[in-house]
Amino acid sequence: MAKNFRRIGVLTSGGDAPGMNAAVRAVTRAAIDKGVEVVGIYEGYKGLIHDNMKVFKDTDVSNIINIAGTALYSDRCLEFKTEEGMQKAIATCRENQIDGIVAIGGDGTFRGATDLSVRGIPTIGIPGTIDNDITSTDYSIGYDTAMNTVVECVDRLRDTCESHARLNVIEVMGRNAGYIALNTGIACGATAIVLKEIAFDEEAAIADIIAAKKKGKRNFIVIVAEGAVPVDEKDYSEKLTKRIEAKTGIECKFCRLAHVVRGGNPTLRDRVLASQMGAAAVDLLLEGKSNLVVCVRDDKLTSMEITHALKLDRMYKGTLKEGDLDGYSAETIAEMQAFCDKKLDAMKKLYETARAISVH
Ligand code: ADP
Repeated sequence: MAKNFRRIGVLTSGGDAPGMNAAVRAVTRAAIDKGVEVVGIYEGYKGLIHDNMKVFKDTDVSNIINIAGTALYSDRCLEFKTEEGMQKAIATCRENQIDGIVAIGGDGTFRGATDLSVRGIPTIGIPGTIDNDITSTDYSIGYDTAMNTVVECVDRLRDTCESHARLNVIEVMGRNAGYIALNTGIACGATAIVLKEIAFDEEAAIADIIAAKKKGKRNFIVIVAEGAVPVDEKDYSEKLTKRIEAKTGIECKFCRLAHVVRGGNPTLRDRVLASQMGAAAVDLLLEGKSNLVVCVRDDKLTSMEITHALKLDRMYKGTLKEGDLDGYSAETIAEMQAFCDKKLDAMKKLYETARAISVH
């Protein structure tokens, strides 16, 4: 309970995402409101190992709710994955009287959070990644902002495509997840969307483009998720652009939006989500909970045990490891499978809708 907590540490780790700052602010203010001190840990787990941190007053997180990136900085810290590094991190926590940690990041960050939890440092994860590739939550912090940035960029490309009767292939981030590509594809009126999760019929897409051109359509948008790019096929999107041009006779351009999508002021949705998740993470720690990831499902704030969430993730991505489901009842496995199937079905339905409402 709160009286046993002296200090909560907060860190951001892995890839940055707009809204991380809003989460740091919420953790800080919510903890101080409950009479608990907060330590801002710089550069993710690296700062925990090397004792790079600062006790925060509530005003130390002023003027960051609207800014992307992370004021606590981030780092991909390999040392933290070693037992030696982990022990150094735990020693830093003890020396600084840190009784619990809120770790904001993606699945790598959560694996680190579990490692801390099982070694006696209660840790709660908050999903902060533009990719929305955390299976246990419907939304992660930064996803909404990233999609809105893609929409703004693609709308601009579309303007010029219309003038010149061109097609633009646009590759967007999302790691192995196609959420950004699918949703922005719909929002930008894409003629074709290429995802890893759903087989892409290139010939059918080209036939659709030719049919739409015959009806007088002048601008064409094709969105490719970076995860759809085969690992052994360098420049897949550029080559796809050339193939479409050769087969349709339409002038085709290629654009990779890349990291531009990671910046920009967080949207209202990301700021509110980050604020809610930050406050919820503090509540969970003060309730004595550990090794949980804060999630939002069906518009309700909830949480899931991280170890379970990571297995659910692997089930969804088809990367389950030997022994992952040992000890799980047949009923639990069926529930996990149903959860994953529901997610994928929703994606397939949206993909079908995207094609149905495009000119073809
Ligand atoms: P993300 O959190 O966005 O998935 P990473 O995969 O880079 O980003 O993970 C962020 C950090 O979390 C890593 O740099 C490392 O310090 C820590 N981490 C990742 N995987 C593990 C692991 N298996 N055990 C302990 N810590 C890990």
